[in-house]
Amino acid sequence: MSDKRSILWFRQDLRLSDNPALEAALQQGGAMLPLFVLDDESFGPRRPGAAQRWWMDRSLTALSERLAERGSRLILRRGPAGQVLKEVVSESGASALFWNRCYDPQSILRDRTVKAWAKDAGLDVRSFGGLLLAEPWEVATGDGGSYRVYSSFWRALSRSYRPPPTRPPPERLSPVPPIASDALKHWALRPAQPNWASGFADVWEPGETGAHRRLSAFLRQGLARYKAERDRPDRDGSSRLSPHLRFGEIAPQRIWNAVQDALSAGAGRAGADTFLAELGWREFSYHLLFHNPDIAREPLRPAFRNFPWRDDPAALAAWQEGRTGYPIVDAGMRQLRSLGWMHNRVRMIVASFLIKHLLLPWQLGEAWFWDTLLDADPANNTASWQWVAGCGTDAAPYFRIFNPVLQGDRFDPEGAYVRRWVPEISALPAKVIHKPWQASPQVLQQTGVRLGESYPRPLIDHAQARKRALEAYATVKQGATV
Ligand SMILES: Cc1cc2nc3c(=O)[nH]c(=O)nc-3n(C[C@H](O)[C@H](O)[C@H](O)COP(=O)(O)OP(=O)(O)OC[C@H]3O[C@@H](n4cnc5c(N)ncnc54)[C@H](O)[C@@H]3O)c2cc1C
Repeated sequence: MSDKRSILWFRQDLRLSDNPALEAALQQGGAMLPLFVLDDESFGPRRPGAAQRWWMDRSLTALSERLAERGSRLILRRGPAGQVLKEVVSESGASALFWNRCYDPQSILRDRTVKAWAKDAGLDVRSFGGLLLAEPWEVATGDGGSYRVYSSFWRALSRSYRPPPTRPPPERLSPVPPIASDALKHWALRPAQPNWASGFADVWEPGETGAHRRLSAFLRQGLARYKAERDRPDRDGSSRLSPHLRFGEIAPQRIWNAVQDALSAGAGRAGADTFLAELGWREFSYHLLFHNPDIAREPLRPAFRNFPWRDDPAALAAWQEGRTGYPIVDAGMRQLRSLGWMHNRVRMIVASFLIKHLLLPWQLGEAWFWDTLLDADPANNTASWQWVAGCGTDAAPYFRIFNPVLQGDRFDPEGAYVRRWVPEISALPAKVIHKPWQASPQVLQQTGVRLGESYPRPLIDHAQARKRALEAYATVKQGATV
């Protein structure tokens, strides 16, 4: 065996199959040192949120096991990534460094610095695309610019897209030289008491194997129903692949290829196209983030910088805790706390409620999602919040103010979703489950609902909130506060 040594730096790509950086390290020959660095910047623009730390703990455990089964070992180190890499290079005598790229501005800056240092130090340093179907700069408009509208972006990307074939994980890996590693348990990524994440493990299986299982189950049971049911929070109609994608436990190319195989085996076109188009939103969010690195803080439409937001900590707390008095909003916020995940339709409803009914800055909602979502993503989260706020490039129109009652009636018609997450009103009949304040005193009494006591009255009347929001948005439209 060659005495060359290379470092494979894992970041947002916690998998062994379809991993271009891993393949490059193997081609190089010699010993490969798999390394993960916890520097609280290595996972995106900011410290991973509490829910993500839970996932990271499990996902790193799974990756460690998969490496060990193949004769290798995951080295864990904590500290500023640049400094840790220098130390590991010096301790191991590695002459090469490989990674798959991240696209948030902080990671790009960090990687540029590391690359410059590594080149100066005479290392063979190479980065690869592995997080997305296409690199954000590869999809360009006719004049070479970036896209600002999703539909044209997705047409351009998907029209002639052919991903590389799916590749299995290596069967054997070289032993890792004796280099010190931290113990994962000392990173204390799991929540301390009270353990709010206690239900997560019943629902989620972090790691590459769990990601592949989730994809297979979805292709078998979900793809055919996806177009009809993806908008229904009361059905299990979407793939729930988002945390796996966030941590790079599965390559989007593998998903694309698996969907094409399902099509060849007779799956319907409608479900497949709709599902791939959702993956397209993920690509578009990364395209936006790459070309607009300030997206997490600044509205993409500058007119929104002076939007007349309110300051109302009590309303924010009611929203966070699922106590707004609007059952579909409260159900979503409680699903988020219990599962670390929320259905996409309900994410849109709760985000619209925070921004338009409560007139609280979208950044506050984005930050709460960042802390509580297992799939909290530097691109998808910020782009989606801007989209709902109406300040993104391809945004929901400002005058679209979701009525939480109508949304509930339409997308949770029997109230099954609300009954599951808001048990104190679960006995209400379907026709008032999304508007308990319209239930008759007899119905309230029979079902044991005491408005204002066992379940809150609405935080704000919808018609009033709508009027106030339109007035606030008018200031942006007319440029009055810009
Ligand atoms: C306010 C708000 C915040 C959001 N924050 C995040 C976030 O932090 N992380 C995140 O991954 N998604 C986010 N989304 C998008 C979407 O809600 C989730 O991706 C989706 O609910 C995940 O469930 P799923 O895997 O079952 O999706 P599926 O419907 O099965 O879709 C498959 C995959 O496509 C991607 N996708 C689907 N919808 C979207 C979308 N609207 N935008 C971007 N990508 C999408 C996801 O990677 C998803 O896993 C947010 C949406 C809103 C409205």
